Amino acid sequence: MAITKVWLDETENECTMCGACEAACDAVFQVPEKMIVRDGADLSLEDGIKEAADACPVGTIAIEYNKSGKRDYPN
Ligand code: SF4
Repeated sequence: MAITKVWLDETENECTMCGACEAACDAVFQVPEKMIVRDGADLSLEDGIKEAADACPVGTIAIEYNKSGKRDYPN
């Protein structure tokens, strides 16, 4: 399984700009205001990306696997 997309999903909650995602995996996440995924981020950093998603207190980090076209993690 390969991560093919990571994005800010504010469908249910808004990013609180807490910075937990950047602290968990700053190679991928930046929080200049709301979270952004760095241009050209290395999506093979699965452990760090999942750690960031798990650390997000409001569940606004979404991960797609294998171009599924949907949010696969967290679900
Ligand atoms: S951990 Fe979640 S709420 Fe905090 S800055 Fe990152 S995306 Fe936003």
